[in-house]
Amino acid sequence: MQKLFEALSDTVLSKGAYKAAVIPVSDVSVDASFRSLCEQNVCGSYGKNWMCPPDAGDIDELMAALKSYEYILVYQTVSTLEDSYDFEGMADAAEKHHKLMYEIREDIEKTDLKRKLFLGAGGCRLCKVCAKRTNEPCRHPDKATPSLEAYGVNVSKLAAAAGMKYINGVNTVTYFGAVLFDI
Ligand code: SF4
Repeated sequence: MQKLFEALSDTVLSKGAYKAAVIPVSDVSVDASFRSLCEQNVCGSYGKNWMCPPDAGDIDELMAALKSYEYILVYQTVSTLEDSYDFEGMADAAEKHHKLMYEIREDIEKTDLKRKLFLGAGGCRLCKVCAKRTNEPCRHPDKATPSLEAYGVNVSKLAAAAGMKYINGVNTVTYFGAVLFDI
């Protein structure tokens, strides 16, 4: 089993992740109160993305779904910013993270792991404009990716459980992604 975990982590690292680790899902901290943070709509995606709340699903059902898996592969990307107002750098970092997430997804979908659930950072960004904004059905329901937060995951505790830092220094931005799986 350890060899499989190392192989999964190596796959992710070889694609450009800064760190990666597999931990049991029993070590993942989830909390329904994260839904109220989404409801404050600081990111502007609440109700505007099929993979964001409230459309992502009931928080208790999503947390239960997450906890039904055996293991979680956690990974992070770290990008450097010019300063804390480097919004272009933040957008580039988010784009880089999402590209990596889909590359990882493509690879892991080919494995014979029994079940897989892919979670990312923030709302699904597969389409330039999410179909939710134009009241159309999701264009790629088989590839649409919800966020860790939508499933109630406490990402700072997840980072600690996986032996990673939640923040990686001044003028950097860190994003997390994960793959839940059964073997
Ligand atoms: S695949 Fe496109 S339409 Fe579906 S949730 Fe993602 S961005 Fe929205």
